[in-house]
Amino acid sequence: MPELLKGKPVADALTEDIRRRADALAERGITPTLAIVRVGENESDLSYIRGALSRCEKCGIEVVQKNLPDLCSQEQLEAVIDEINADPGIDGCLLLRPLPRHIDERAICNRLKAAKDMDCITDASLSTVFTGRGEGFAPCTAQAVIEILNYYGVDVAGKNAAVIGRSLVIGKPVSMLLQQRDATVTMCHSRTQNIAALCSQADLLIAAVGKAGFVGPEFTNPNQVIIDVGINVTPEGKLTGDVDFDAVADGVKAISPVPGGVGGVTTAVLCKHLMEAAERAAF
Ligand code: NAP
Repeated sequence: MPELLKGKPVADALTEDIRRRADALAERGITPTLAIVRVGENESDLSYIRGALSRCEKCGIEVVQKNLPDLCSQEQLEAVIDEINADPGIDGCLLLRPLPRHIDERAICNRLKAAKDMDCITDASLSTVFTGRGEGFAPCTAQAVIEILNYYGVDVAGKNAAVIGRSLVIGKPVSMLLQQRDATVTMCHSRTQNIAALCSQADLLIAAVGKAGFVGPEFTNPNQVIIDVGINVTPEGKLTGDVDFDAVADGVKAISPVPGGVGGVTTAVLCKHLMEAAERAAF
């Protein structure tokens, strides 16, 4: 059996560290505070918020929720972002997306100060990820991949990494974060030829495709570590990753499960970013 790279111990370790730092700020009378902005009543937003609220409570982070109706105007949403930017009591912001179609989402995202952007929704934060300069944070999911590798002691320096997916949310930033750690990264996408053969050469495989069971045994080798970022729901309602876990597990060195892998680490990373923002503001 491969080593199972479960997310819970990673999230627990991050939470413990954040809690300790929150307690240190509390001694100085500072309560780290996150604003969560939601437009409408999307069930997946509500479910993500429930997870984030529970994680923030464990970490000693206060949450201010800003809820707007589905039919809110661009100006109303801009005013909420401006209020968050100007409020010294709010250290960071999570804006749930996608926004309704009548809203100019890029304009809203870029209105947020990079220093308060906890999930890399601004171009300025992306610039930090790509240049290493500035005060932005990486997307929580991309950073969660790195936290899992760190926790389980997977050294990526000098290793060949294949990333399947090139979105700005996961594929591209995770490729940059791995490259910053001296991995040699191949970014694969829908036009990549011989993708299975290419991935089968990799020491590390990151799957962020959005297709259930896309990665089969032909993508793998016995020394490979796989991080499955995918979240898919099968027609039977089962939550599953991009990797055909049962088919590949016996033929690889280590693999993160879905559910129970990357997904559970993202809210802990959100809290880690918030704590860093709060400490920057405090010291
Ligand atoms: P996305 O924007 O749809 O990007 C998917 C990427 O996969 C694209 O770059 C696409 O290539 C590539 N792709 C699609 N079909 C392919 C194929 N047949 N062969 C090779 N590459 C192919 O998705 P995303 O937002 O990056 O999300 C990826 C997955 O992560 C989804 O399952 C999503 O639900 C999951 N996710 C997980 C978390 C978490 O917390 N674990 C958070 C966010 C998202 P092109 O660029 O050529 O189209």
